[in-house]
Amino acid sequence: MKNELLLTAEGVTKSFDGFKAIDDLNFYLDKGELRTIIGPNGAGKSTFLDLITGRTRPDAGIIEFRGTRLTSLREYEIYRLGIGRKFQTPSVYNDHTVYENILLGLEGPRGVWASLFHRTTPAQNDRIHDVLATIGLDAKANQKAGLLAHGQKQWLEIGMLLAQNAELLLVDEPAAGMSDEETEKTGELLLRLAGKHTILVIEHDMVFVRQLGSKVTVLHQGHVLCEGSLDHVQNDERVIQVYLGRKGKAAHAAN
Ligand code: ADP
Ligand code: MG
Repeated sequence: MKNELLLTAEGVTKSFDGFKAIDDLNFYLDKGELRTIIGPNGAGKSTFLDLITGRTRPDAGIIEFRGTRLTSLREYEIYRLGIGRKFQTPSVYNDHTVYENILLGLEGPRGVWASLFHRTTPAQNDRIHDVLATIGLDAKANQKAGLLAHGQKQWLEIGMLLAQNAELLLVDEPAAGMSDEETEKTGELLLRLAGKHTILVIEHDMVFVRQLGSKVTVLHQGHVLCEGSLDHVQNDERVIQVYLGRKGKAAHAAN
């Protein structure tokens, strides 16, 4: 089967006060693909997501989604095209139930109040329960989101992206702060969603990256240093050099 490109970034550059956080970046993602981006802190990973979602604008280069140029669109227009983002720290509505959080995802950010004061349609209700089943939180539907465990909040936020009907899911360091068991369940969830959705995951935890088993892009100083299987990039001399002497989980990339 021929691969269909979903997201294209070419020659993308973004400077902050003269510092190039993203430097002539070229990046290509196929429809249905699961891709993992790794790279040291400050490599520009989150900035790349900011550029895709329209949170920041590039100084140069193009980013296209399904052939639509994103760089001239506003953040909500990009969101409506079907690009959903999960930030590093979960941002669910703690005072609302798990069910209501998914409902809010369904309606989009503009419908927050409207959706809470209207009766949900049977179709909406089915859809909400489908999403809750997918993320494994159906039994918690009526519980306040604030009472969920950290991992469950992350899954709820992924569920909100599913409710939003996002075709492309941008997931920034989902395993951060998770237990090993939660991390593994998160991997299983993303693997289940891949294919139906296109998923871009940023991650440091190499056990998790291995579980995902996807093609890996190594970002360094805002540029793609190396791409390929995890084994391929871990054996690349340049990647080893970049990670040498670094502490923490990311250092395992050089192992
Ligand atoms: P990563 O996610 O790979 O750790 P980031 O994309 O967060 O890296 O950051 C890349 C570089 O860009 C860092 O040096 C960071 O300080 C800088 N940066 C990111 N966003 C901004 C911003 N809004 N203003 C100024 N500097 C920024
Ligand atoms: Mg980051």
